[in-house]
Amino acid sequence: MKARKPYFKLSDYILMAMISSMGIAVKVIIVPLAHIITGPLFIPGGVVAGGFYMAFLVLGASITQKRGTATIIALIQAVVVTITGTLGSHGAASLFTYTLPGIAVDLLYLILRHKACCTLCCFLGGIVANVTGSFAVNLAIFNLSTVPLLLSFCAAGLSGGLGGLIAYAIATNVRKLGILGKETRPTCAVPLPDLKTIAKSKGDENETK
Ligand SMILES: [Zn+2]
Repeated sequence: MKARKPYFKLSDYILMAMISSMGIAVKVIIVPLAHIITGPLFIPGGVVAGGFYMAFLVLGASITQKRGTATIIALIQAVVVTITGTLGSHGAASLFTYTLPGIAVDLLYLILRHKACCTLCCFLGGIVANVTGSFAVNLAIFNLSTVPLLLSFCAAGLSGGLGGLIAYAIATNVRKLGILGKETRPTCAVPLPDLKTIAKSKGDENETK
């Protein structure tokens, strides 16, 4: 009997590790910038900045097209942030606040029966990730009153959705390369141009001459 093929390939794990570290790196840069905008509105800066780094969850899911990708990326981020205590670390609460958005994204795609495959579901994925993230952070740390909370959810949804759209655009381009993630077409090492297109392009050249 053959051994069952593992669900995630090695390249998937490498991709997930890469994406989670990129997410953390981007967060360190973007959060202080976002504080400039969100400071006067009395909402946490992470809410607006969240769209940018929550997009990495959707990006990962969209490249691999496999269920559980977002959860694993979020889990890696949670562990790294908790251990190293980088910016945005809230001690043990980080394990909770970082993992929850990933689980939410995977649950969403399980319910929708989508796999971060189209513009709309990436958009929704971004919204869900960021709103869940800001909800978790609020639950764990901020305890905002109702109006700023609703305001922060709106901001979170907006930036999360935009992040999701960007993630989809990047993921489709990455998958077109055929190096990472699920191939969109059958691949061979060097794609050969088929004869019809060659003949056609030759014909076009002759016509223009
Ligand atoms: Zn879809």
